[in-house]
Amino acid sequence: MRDALVRELNQQLPLRGLAERLQLARALVSGQVVLTNSFGLEDQVLTHVVVQSGLEIGLVTLDTGRMFPEVYDLWRKTEQHYGVSIQPVFPEAKDVQDLVQAHGINGFYDSIEARKACCGARKIGPLKRVLDGAQLWITGLRADQSQQRGQAEWAQYDEAFGLIKVSPLLDWSRDEVLAFAQAHNVPVNPLHKQGFVSIGCAPCTRAIAEGEDERAGRWWWEQDTHKECGLHIGADGRLQRAGTV
Ligand code: SF4
Repeated sequence: MRDALVRELNQQLPLRGLAERLQLARALVSGQVVLTNSFGLEDQVLTHVVVQSGLEIGLVTLDTGRMFPEVYDLWRKTEQHYGVSIQPVFPEAKDVQDLVQAHGINGFYDSIEARKACCGARKIGPLKRVLDGAQLWITGLRADQSQQRGQAEWAQYDEAFGLIKVSPLLDWSRDEVLAFAQAHNVPVNPLHKQGFVSIGCAPCTRAIAEGEDERAGRWWWEQDTHKECGLHIGADGRLQRAGTV
């Protein structure tokens, strides 16, 4: 059943426009569908289409406590613009206390282990809670964002979170997403104009230079080329693919 659904989504999604992709994903499952919005360009475009199409898809954001002030401004602006409420999900206070005690307030600069512990407490734990009970998760992944994301599928069963993950913007370029946002007056983060392409937590994000990989500004001090926080990573440390179902 689950595998058949993933297969159908992988067959049907590339044949449709963006709104129809979201409509199909919503229509094929009966349970809860969640769109996680980190207020990047892609998530904002998906939020626009979900709201304009009147789809019953929950809008959720993970507030790690370390976001840029511009992200909080955009969060408020987005809610006002669309007349919606975006559900915040916060880390557990004890997890953050234990993390800071063990690694220091900015311990993520010191080791990959400390960085992963921080992403685990501030992102992965809260995401697990919010996806618990949902049947389908909509994400803003694009295949050309990085070499690793080029392996992603339209739909795949995410073993870590126990649900089907769908990426309706998989074949869109950044220019296409930007053009859509401009054409439809979608609120976007002003930091994009300053070279911040992929925007995560403030201490872990920098602007990128011309020609750099879109994800190069994330955890830039790490040598590892797999710039992911764990939200889209399987147990083997690689981006999950439908073929692994
Ligand atoms: S991106 Fe940085 S601050 Fe945010 S959760 Fe990960 S390590 Fe912590």
